[in-house]
Amino acid sequence: MERQRERGFKLTPQRLAILEYLDGNRDHPAAEDIYHNVKKSFPTMSLATVYNTLEALKRRGEVVELTIDPERRHYDPNTEPHHHLICLRCKKIVDVHKEFRINIPPAQRQGFRITGNHIEFYGVCPECTRKGGVEMAVFKCESCGATKEGRCKPKKCPKCGETGTMSKQG
Ligand code: ZN
Ligand code: MN
Repeated sequence: MERQRERGFKLTPQRLAILEYLDGNRDHPAAEDIYHNVKKSFPTMSLATVYNTLEALKRRGEVVELTIDPERRHYDPNTEPHHHLICLRCKKIVDVHKEFRINIPPAQRQGFRITGNHIEFYGVCPECTRKGGVEMAVFKCESCGATKEGRCKPKKCPKCGETGTMSKQG
């Protein structure tokens, strides 16, 4: 955390407490989560300090802001390239450490030189699946290969429209 002492970023005790909370944190906390946790040991902490510290860290490339949750921005101190998976029910975000060989065909790149990507996966975590009591299944069309997630088997394929071709995966 020595790098924090560079110009333009005063390492106040409040900011240090935020940095310590974020260091090695794998939970992708939102600003409010950081505020509530740091406030426990630092009662003078304000939400504004959390916000402007996050903003400074983001500018310096020390944290990555995640927009995977449409309701709140989350922050990741792990700035190594990786992807994320969010539970749509409890909004838990987990890391996906795998490289995906996806590419934009040259005709669609609009002159850009592509330097990276970030893939957001959506789903329901095991805890929420258990709590919900209903297991979601994936059904695949034997005819066109399309897949559909749902609680019961679709009568016809949502893609090719054929009936009786959907079968449960796994
Ligand atoms: Zn969940
Ligand atoms: Mn992450």
